[in-house]
Amino acid sequence: MKTKPLGPIPARYETLDGELAIGGRKASALVEAAGRTPLFVYSKSHLDERVATLRAAIPPRIGINYAVKANPHPQVISHMAPLVDGFDIASSGELLMVQKAGIDPARVSFAGPGKRDDELEAAISAGVTLNCESEGEAHRSLTIGQTLGKTPRIAIRVNPDFELKGSGMKMGGGAKPFGVDAKRVPVLAKQIIAEGAEWRGLHIFTGSQTLSAEAITEAQTNVLNLAFSLTQEIGATLPKLNMGGGFGIPYFPGDKPLDLSAVGAALHELVEAHGAALGDTELCLELGRYLVGEAGVYLCRVIDKKVSHDQTYLITDGGLHHQLAASGNFGTVVRRNYPVANASRFGEEASEVANVVGCLCTPLDRLADMAELPRTEVGDLVAVFCAGAYGASASPANFLGHGPAAEMIV
Ligand SMILES: *Cc1c(COP(=O)(O)O)cnc(C)c1O
Repeated sequence: MKTKPLGPIPARYETLDGELAIGGRKASALVEAAGRTPLFVYSKSHLDERVATLRAAIPPRIGINYAVKANPHPQVISHMAPLVDGFDIASSGELLMVQKAGIDPARVSFAGPGKRDDELEAAISAGVTLNCESEGEAHRSLTIGQTLGKTPRIAIRVNPDFELKGSGMKMGGGAKPFGVDAKRVPVLAKQIIAEGAEWRGLHIFTGSQTLSAEAITEAQTNVLNLAFSLTQEIGATLPKLNMGGGFGIPYFPGDKPLDLSAVGAALHELVEAHGAALGDTELCLELGRYLVGEAGVYLCRVIDKKVSHDQTYLITDGGLHHQLAASGNFGTVVRRNYPVANASRFGEEASEVANVVGCLCTPLDRLADMAELPRTEVGDLVAVFCAGAYGASASPANFLGHGPAAEMIV
């Protein structure tokens, strides 16, 4: 029978009494503590380790921002608060979340097209930096600042003429709804400064989910060069450069982890080469999935096991309503298997081939196709890894009325 490989299970997930353990606790115990499946579990030690490894690899003058949209769970935000330097938000909803976590608005920047007036008002009142996505938005921000009697803190998101190669989602290069085309940035920046806003600098985000250190290095070189040439044209010092990121994680069979030491070495070289020109400019990377993706596991339970035309189906109480990306319906062209395992028999060798599906009445609801798994029984827990980013909050939890999954941090 033709099998399909599973994605690579992230490092540091252990076996305890034959079960998958997360943060030193067995899957069955975690589900018992949560009271139900499906359940997202986020591991603090994975979050800690990821940020520490990243810090050790990159130059100390490059800060780390967390892109909240990757995982806005309140306890994840709170846990990240002391670990990272800044937070990137993309809506007034996310603004509320970082405010609830007690994060200083001076550490927060707000990107995203289509910011409503009430969102701009909330952000300006709070003192958050706006990464303006268009001339129109910059002018609305200036007007709102005047009405509120508050100086808006404004950076410009640049739509660069290059992109992050090999990127899963292209966010720069050519016509885009994001940012201001590079050649129009200097004129707008001068207006923003002339109107008395606090000039906060440039935001250049070139793409997402790349595993190529070479592509990231090339993009970061281009980002710095573009920032220098724009700054010269603007004629004011650059307070801050948000360099984007796009660091990816391995999801699929054959994916190799990003070579962080190569990226780190390249960033050290860039910063050294441009040190004088950079002056006091504050630098930061903004990362979402790289920080949190591998720290999350989605656990669901096998409800039924059946055979159809010689294929075994493991039907779980989970599905695409919590794990749209694992089902292959969130920005992928060809469906490939995520890392999936039998969490109740984590230590066992594979001995059967099965399709793992969700409980939704749609053929789109697949968690693993033709996967080699240990012999799995009704009642076993299935783990979908790489569930820490774009999982719970990026899936249609209302679809078919099953409701959201439980979430916990350990
Ligand atoms: C989504 C997004 C990110 C985070 O992307 P990841 O792939 O999760 O790292 C960062 N910056 C901006 C502007 C984004 O839109």
